[in-house]
Parts: sequence; C-alpha cells; structure tokens
Amino acid sequence: MQKIIAINAGSSSLKFKLFEMPEEKVIAKGLFDRIGLDEGKIKIKYNKTKSFEKAEHIENHATAVKKLLDLLLELDIIKEYAEITGVGHRVVAGGEFFKKSVVINTKVMRQINELAEYAPIHNPANLMGIKAFKKILPKAIAVAVFDTSFHQTMPKTNFLFSVPYEWYHNYGVRRYGAHGTSHRYVARVAARMMERPLKELKLITCHLGAGASICAVKNGKSFDTSMGFTPLTGITMGTRSGDTDVAMISFMMQKLKMHSMPEIIYDLNKKSGLLGISGISSDMRDIEEKKATNERAQLAEDIFVKDVVKYIGAYTAEMGGLDGIVFTAGIGENSARVRELVMKRLAYMGITIDQEKNKLRGQAEFVSSLDSKVAVMMIPTDEELMIARDVQTLADKSKEVYSKIHAG
Ligand code: AMP
Repeated sequence: MQKIIAINAGSSSLKFKLFEMPEEKVIAKGLFDRIGLDEGKIKIKYNKTKSFEKAEHIENHATAVKKLLDLLLELDIIKEYAEITGVGHRVVAGGEFFKKSVVINTKVMRQINELAEYAPIHNPANLMGIKAFKKILPKAIAVAVFDTSFHQTMPKTNFLFSVPYEWYHNYGVRRYGAHGTSHRYVARVAARMMERPLKELKLITCHLGAGASICAVKNGKSFDTSMGFTPLTGITMGTRSGDTDVAMISFMMQKLKMHSMPEIIYDLNKKSGLLGISGISSDMRDIEEKKATNERAQLAEDIFVKDVVKYIGAYTAEMGGLDGIVFTAGIGENSARVRELVMKRLAYMGITIDQEKNKLRGQAEFVSSLDSKVAVMMIPTDEELMIARDVQTLADKSKEVYSKIHAG
C-alpha cells in the first residue's frame, strides 16, 4: 500500500488529493488559497466526514507545501512524510515535448519552464509546486501530468490552423487542446460502462464546466478537440467567448479605445461567454434560474446548447460515426436540463433519453434509454485519480527497470 498525492498548483492556490493506492481510496483533500496574499485560507477534508479550516497568511508555495505536510501529520492522516511515495503534478502546457505523463527530472523542469510562453500564468505556478515538493519530499517519485498530452495524437489535419505553415513550424502555433486528463479519464470509464474495448469506439466527450471543451475520441485516442492554441476557442464557456472572428479584435479595440491586446483578450477571456451574452452571470445555475424572465439568459443557454450540438455533429462527421457521448464537469454532471436539451436536438441520430436516469446525480450512469442508437452517459470526472494512477504506473515501471538493472 502506498500514498500518492495529486497536486494542482495555481498562481495563488494549491489543491491536493491524497490517495491510498492501489485501492484508489481518497484519504484527504483540500485547498490552500490566496497564497502570497493577505488572508490566506486552508481547507482540508479527511476521514470521509472530518474537516479542518484555518485562515492564516501563506507566504509562498514552499510554505504551503510545508504547512500541508505538517497538517497531514497533525491531523493524523499520515505518521511521517516518507509515507507519501509519489507526487503527481498537473501541468497545463506540455507543448509537443510531452505526449505522455513523465517522471520529473531537471530536464523536464527546464522544458516546463520553456513552455511557459504557451501558458504564462499556469506553467510557472505548476513549476513552483513541483519545486516545493521536490525540496521537502526528495525521495518521492514526482510525475508531471499534462493537460495537453492526451491531444498529442491528433492528426495534422485536425491540429493545424489554416495560417502560414511557418507559424507552426517556427513558432509552434497549433491546436494543443486542454482538459486532456479529464477527456482521457471519462473515455476509459465510458468504454468500461459500454463493455466494449476503448480501441473500437468512437466517442465524443463533453467536458462542460466553467471552462468547457469537447473531444472526439477515436479508437481511444484524441482525434480532435475544441480548444485551440489556448483554452479561449471552441464552445461558449462561463466567461470565455469560444470561437470568434479574430478580425473583430482590431475593430473593437478602436471602438472601445483600447491601446493594448491584453485588454481585449481579457474581455474575451473574462467578460464573454454565458456572462457576456446574459449580462447576469457566468454560472449555468443562475442562467437556468433567470431564463424564464430574462431573454438574454435564455439566449445564453440556447447558444451554449447549440455549440455543444454543433461540435457533436461536426465530430461525428469527422470520425465517420458515433458510439457514445459523455457529459462531464460542473454543467455536464449536474445540469439534467442541458443534457436533455442537447439530446433532444440529437434525436435525428436516433438518440433517446431515459428521463428518470437523466435526473440522477453523483454516479456514472447511462442517461440515454436502452433503444438509443448512441449511448449517452453522465460520468463524474476525476482528474486527480487519473494523475494518481499515472504516478503509480510510472513508479511501478521505474521499480521494474531498477530491479532489472540490479538483477543483471
Ligand atoms: P467546473 O468548472 O467543472 O467546476 O464547473 C463549474 C460550473 O458548473 C459552474 O460555473 C456552473 O455553471 C456549473 N454547475 C454546477 N452545478 C450546476 C447545476 N446544479 N446546474 C447547472 N450548472 C451547474
């Protein structure tokens, strides 16, 4: 039995989930928030029912990691640091360097740093988390799990933009996609639920959260995905615009008397999507609540649903068929209404809804009826579990290599 911790470090936060492996049992999870700011917050849930909360200044990521490990000791979740044998770090941009999760060494850290130009906020934050854990748990295996690596199997036809080829060749401008760990996880669960080998399936996984992306998973591999060079493209999101015409940027900069690109990119990232259309909220719960009396809230829902339907149609055509659709993340898991609206619009594909099952929450479930031509599933995503599994797989592999060398 070993303990593996999955880490998601943001610029001012650090989320964690501690697993007992291979049982995949969650023994603690929590959040260190407002790192480096005043009024830091620590929240930990453990032993299923217990919780710990404290407001205190957290100077930087290194202090957050030290506090985290000391709290795990204090709360009797671990007896000593050494019990944690593996640390898995979510890393946002893996570029074309990383097609799979990897054991972190100095070279990997340098590459993650080099890739910061593709994710200027996230990669440096991820690296801070990596360095902090390396310092305090030097013997634990450290693994990087990239949001982009699942999408590295996309063919050139699907990852290239129709811009001068040199932009790709010289500067790496292409579709990288995101949410790869989530799409990879739910696709596997879907195949298990369908009792068919993943390698034989054509799936479309819809990760619909505050950030949202859709992925065509053909024969177990990412074939196309809606997010692009950055997470700004694809379907309408909470505050991100999704697909737009870039030529409007200079037009709107003039109209709004903006002087720099970051200003308008900020609006496209933070003031658009459901929030921009509705003018009320980026949260689908608010949109659903207000839509009866607010035309723009209704419009926001309509556009969101239309985008999901549009991508499912496009990806079905690209893959030449479809066996299953998965809904996951905040909206995908919790909004029976969005699922129903999407499925109704896909009735032409022979999709039929199981109204009762579609109301259920919390557990993976088929939400289409038995006679549906395409299976539709709601599957709660678990990126942290996928990270912990990758750590375990790589830890087992390095043990194997080690024992071969020593046997030889
Ligand atoms: P995530 O980014 O996966 O955490 O998803 C967060 C988003 O899920 C929120 O901003 C909401 O829009 C959406 N959400 C969460 N719960 C519900 C719900 N019960 N009904 C509709 N949308 C929900």
